[in-house]
Amino acid sequence: SLAVRDVHLAFGAHRVLRGADLDVARGGTACVIGPSGSGKSTLLRTINRLIEPDRGDVLLDGRSVLRDDPDALRQRIGMVFQQFNLFPHLSVLRNVTLALRKLKKLGEDEAVALARAQLDLVGLAAKADARPAQLSGGQQQRVAIARALALRPQVMLFDEATSALDPELVKGVLAVMADLAAAGMTMVVVTHEMGFARTVADTVAFMDAGVVLEAGPPAAVFEAPEHPRLRRFLSQVL
Ligand code: ATP
Ligand code: MG
Repeated sequence: SLAVRDVHLAFGAHRVLRGADLDVARGGTACVIGPSGSGKSTLLRTINRLIEPDRGDVLLDGRSVLRDDPDALRQRIGMVFQQFNLFPHLSVLRNVTLALRKLKKLGEDEAVALARAQLDLVGLAAKADARPAQLSGGQQQRVAIARALALRPQVMLFDEATSALDPELVKGVLAVMADLAAAGMTMVVVTHEMGFARTVADTVAFMDAGVVLEAGPPAAVFEAPEHPRLRRFLSQVL
């Protein structure tokens, strides 16, 4: 399980996280929704320690990640971004093997075999030798997902993974994410895709001004929102 406990973070005088809490059961999917600037990306970044919180804790299976070695932690917690962050000068295959070689210290043959298997799972076996620029945005995002999954993470974080995609490419990426959730991956998904949140999430967490204001099963959050600010947000996005 993953637990964010009372996390605070300020950039200078700007208090971006003001006591954020989030619980994701092992194998569960939490979707984080909320207005722009509410701290969703910052919350994700504190979970895999791209940023260190000023106060509070992040627990993975009951153990604080703040004491882990950051490199080891980023193998256990994979992250996928809105901009795919692939290396443009490397082939699709090399994009996936790089972290396996550097972080997992795998040999060439083992890294290539694992990378090919992972690319196959996201439907991109045939693109292994292509450069990222030769792929559609949706294909590039699936490479980024394969690259993270190849490290065999316990948790996957997605920060608006489909927001930069052309509308017709969104479905394919969401399908890969839904399959991953169904296969029992523990996931935190920041998304504007309310349909995905409604059908895939176990928990929907609404963030506003640096806190999770309301969280619960999708039916409760979407059909019977309690907080006026959540009601207003839903009336704007649904
Ligand atoms: P969006 O939906 O637009 O992605 P968000 O909920 O992900 O928004 P964050 O990116 O977490 O919001 O940002 C929350 C606030 O923190 C914003 O006001 C942003 O300007 C500020 N912020 C984020 N990163 C930094 C940084 N590195 N330095 C200073 N301020 C930052
Ligand atoms: Mg964001």
